[in-house]
Amino acid sequence: IPANYVLQPFFGMLLRVSGIPFSVSAMKFPFIMSSSSPLRIVLASRNRKKTREVSEILLPHGFEVVPVTDYSDVPEVVEDGTTFAENAAKKATQTARHLGQWVIGEDSGLMVDALGGAPGIYSARYSGEDATDERNNQKLLAELLNVPDEKRGAGYLCSVALSDPSGVIRAACEGTCRGRILRDAHGVGGFGYDPYFLVPEYHRTFGLLSATVKHRISHRAKAFSRFIPLLLALRDQFSPQS
Ligand code: IMP
Repeated sequence: IPANYVLQPFFGMLLRVSGIPFSVSAMKFPFIMSSSSPLRIVLASRNRKKTREVSEILLPHGFEVVPVTDYSDVPEVVEDGTTFAENAAKKATQTARHLGQWVIGEDSGLMVDALGGAPGIYSARYSGEDATDERNNQKLLAELLNVPDEKRGAGYLCSVALSDPSGVIRAACEGTCRGRILRDAHGVGGFGYDPYFLVPEYHRTFGLLSATVKHRISHRAKAFSRFIPLLLALRDQFSPQS
C-alpha cells in the first residue's frame, strides 16, 4: 500500500481538526495531498455536530464533506416523510437538484420502546418549535419518569441516501444501535440524546465514549459502513471538481 494512501487521510483529519484549511495544507504539505485529494461531496444537513460526525467517518475513505450551509441559497427541506428513509431521500434529492451536484441525505433519530418508538422521525423537534438538545432530553426524561430501568430500552436509527445531480437516488442504507435511556446525563461527548444513551456492551453512554468508538459502533457508523462501498463504486461518475 503506498504510504500516501495511509498518511493522507490521517494527516488530512489532523489538519482539519486543527482548523487548517485544505488549500493551505496542500501548499505546506504537498506530500500529503499529492496523489489523491479528497473528493468533495455535499451533505444535506444543517446540524453541525452531525455533519462533523459524517465528515470524520468519510474522510479516511477519501471524501471531504461540504455542509449544505456553505451555500447561501439552498432552501430548507421540509421533513414530511413518514420514515427516516423517506426523509433522507428527500433531503438528498431536493438539495442535489437545486445545486446540480451529488448530495448525501441523512436522517436519524432515537426510538424508545416504552414510548412506542417516539420520538422517532421527530427526534430533532421533540420538544417543539424551539427545540434544543437540552429541551428534548428534558422532555424524554419526563416521559420516562415512571418507566423502570428494565423497560428503558431504545435504539438509534440512521438512514443515508445518495442522490445524483438529477435527483435520482443511487444508493441508500440504514444502520441501528441498541441501548438504554438513563435517568441522569453521563458525559458531554456526541450530541442530542447521547449523554443519556447507555451502550450496554461498553457500560458507558455515547456522551462518555470517545468519538473513535462512536464512529465504530453507532447507527451512523453502521449505515455508512454499508454506504461507503457504494459511494466508492460511484465516485468515478462524480464530475471533476475544482
Ligand atoms: P435530523 O437532523 O432531522 O436527522 O434529526 C436528528 C436528531 O436525531 C438529532 O437532532 C438528535 O435529536 C437525534 N440523533 C440522531 N443521531 C443522533 C446521535 O448520534 N446522537 C444523539 N442524538 C441523535
